[in-house]
Amino acid sequence: MTELQAHLDGRWAAVRNTARELLDDPRLVPSLGSLEEQRARTFDRLRMLAEAGVSRLGFPKEYGGLDDLGGSITGFEMLALGDLSLLVKAGVQFGLFGGAILHLGTERHHEAYLADVISVALPGCFAMTETGHGSDVAALRTTATYEDGVFVIETPDDDARKDYIGNAARDGRAAVVFAQLITAGEQQGVHAFVVPIRDSDGSPADGVRIEDCGPKAGLNGVDNGRLWFDGVRIPRENLLNGYGDVAADGTYSTPIENPTRRFFTMLGTLIQGRVSVAGGAGSATKVALAIAVRYAEVRRQFTAPGRDAEIVLLDYLAHQRRLLPALARTYALHFAQGELVGALHDDFADEERRRPLEARAAAIKAAATWHATATIQTCREACGGAGYLTENQFARLKADTDVFTTFEGDNTVLLQLVGKELLTAYRSQFGELDWLGTIRFVAEQTVDTVVEHTAAHRREAPARHGGPPPAPSRRQRRPVRHVQRDPGPPAARRPGARRPAAARGVRRRHRLGAGVRPTPARGGVRPVRAVRRGGRPGVVHRARAAVDAAQQGGDRHGRRAVRRAAPARDDADRRLRHPGRVHHRADRPNVEFDP
Ligand SMILES: Cc1cc2nc3c(=O)[nH]c(=O)nc-3n(C[C@H](O)[C@H](O)[C@H](O)COP(=O)(O)OP(=O)(O)OC[C@H]3O[C@@H](n4cnc5c(N)ncnc54)[C@H](O)[C@@H]3O)c2cc1C
Repeated sequence: MTELQAHLDGRWAAVRNTARELLDDPRLVPSLGSLEEQRARTFDRLRMLAEAGVSRLGFPKEYGGLDDLGGSITGFEMLALGDLSLLVKAGVQFGLFGGAILHLGTERHHEAYLADVISVALPGCFAMTETGHGSDVAALRTTATYEDGVFVIETPDDDARKDYIGNAARDGRAAVVFAQLITAGEQQGVHAFVVPIRDSDGSPADGVRIEDCGPKAGLNGVDNGRLWFDGVRIPRENLLNGYGDVAADGTYSTPIENPTRRFFTMLGTLIQGRVSVAGGAGSATKVALAIAVRYAEVRRQFTAPGRDAEIVLLDYLAHQRRLLPALARTYALHFAQGELVGALHDDFADEERRRPLEARAAAIKAAATWHATATIQTCREACGGAGYLTENQFARLKADTDVFTTFEGDNTVLLQLVGKELLTAYRSQFGELDWLGTIRFVAEQTVDTVVEHTAAHRREAPARHGGPPPAPSRRQRRPVRHVQRDPGPPAARRPGARRPAAARGVRRRHRLGAGVRPTPARGGVRPVRAVRRGGRPGVVHRARAAVDAAQQGGDRHGRRAVRRAAPARDDADRRLRHPGRVHHRADRPNVEFDP
């Protein structure tokens, strides 16, 4: 058990243990109340985190931090086992507000602000989204114009007001505001500025208008608000000048000339927020599954024929099929997240190595948050009426995690980013290949696809290594209507219908209350389906032969493979040239591969 726990806890096990102890504190247990009570309590809890030192993890030692990026993301993930409003409030304060100052600012900003960010002496906001532009942040319309030695921050109209901003409605004293930088009459693109939004007495600063977004579907401990800036003047030094600066005479300078590249490099340094949301979604999913699986182990419904005892829900295959695949996917995402956090921790400072992690972070964030939304709903239903009671947590989990699919990058838009990255990598791979290399590439892709789709690797491996018997195939896991009733004599079967299970040597095994499911009569491994299936014999072998032949300089197999691969290569070329268009081939349905 300890070994398993250590494996699951991974590299930041110590952080996880500290978080577990912290979450045992009854003052951190999620609870309800009026909007104001929830907000006040969440702010108090934020201060508790700071006092416990949790906020120090991700910041440099010079400013009171612990220089542990991986630890801070893992700590955030663990917080999601408790109050999700606190999680998001902490994410805004330490991850977004503090993170922007740390990564987009320079030493003068670190000196001025970081210690107060960590201690929550300076509660802050991350003011990027505008009412008119959420996903397309390059098109933001707030302006920061340099004139007479200061920047003037201006909201041109209501469409450009900052919207949904966490910490803005009640607690924030300052905000990192993203705005179009204009100097010497030229617009230099979106940059970030530290702008005070409230005075020490809590009233809005001069020229700042603040509005409360009001109650939300969830996360009501977080005070989201709207901000308008009417000629707010801030010192030139408040520009977070890590990627672009303005000299006293108004001259603009930057280490990255290309404005698009500069902007995306700036955003890339804020990747931590996205990875953290994925981790938080994972924890909320685990909470839901833990409740639903435990309930399913004790809850009984219906009596098995010929027995007195009622059956526990988890003995029903239907129930297993709802919960166990979700559980398996949750473990898979847990390990994927762990790998990503480790890679980010090791490679964050190296821009070249960090770039590929950005697409991975986007993909895992989308996968983990959509999985959370679907799984929490499944778990709620799996607990029946009890799942609907507030005390059983699902209402809170559903409401609070819902928006994870939208903030820190809308999932659909993030997947477009991932697709673009993959196509770019694909194009550069193809661009360097000669015809032989192209064939090899296509053939290798085919092998991978076939192996993945047939799960050949999963089913062959245990037998080869003397491991446990293979998992049941998809067909085996399907409901088995034909063995529940008498199939009648062979002549009565429809022409071409499958022979009954018994005739195929399939043994019957009774499961309590769950009907019957077939298992292979001899515990051996069945041949790979795609290799032996009618109409497509030997797809794997043919593709492998093509790879071998191409590697050896091309024999008969190779030449045939050249002819076969050519249409696929032309297809791929056309797609790369016109990525938006769907290409149909007359001789094939519009499906890439159907094993
Ligand atoms: C509770 C909450 C807290 C937030 N906190 C903050 C914060 O602290 N700071 C901050 O700056 N922002 C914050 N946000 C804003 C959040 O980041 C944005 O809501 C998010 O980026 C989406 O932007 P949008 O709402 O404008 O949606 P839109 O971008 O308008 O998207 C609406 C729909 O259109 C789809 N869509 C958009 N573009 C495309 C496309 N090209 N192709 C196909 N479909 C597309 C999307 O998938 C989505 O379904 C918060 C939001 C919420 C709800």
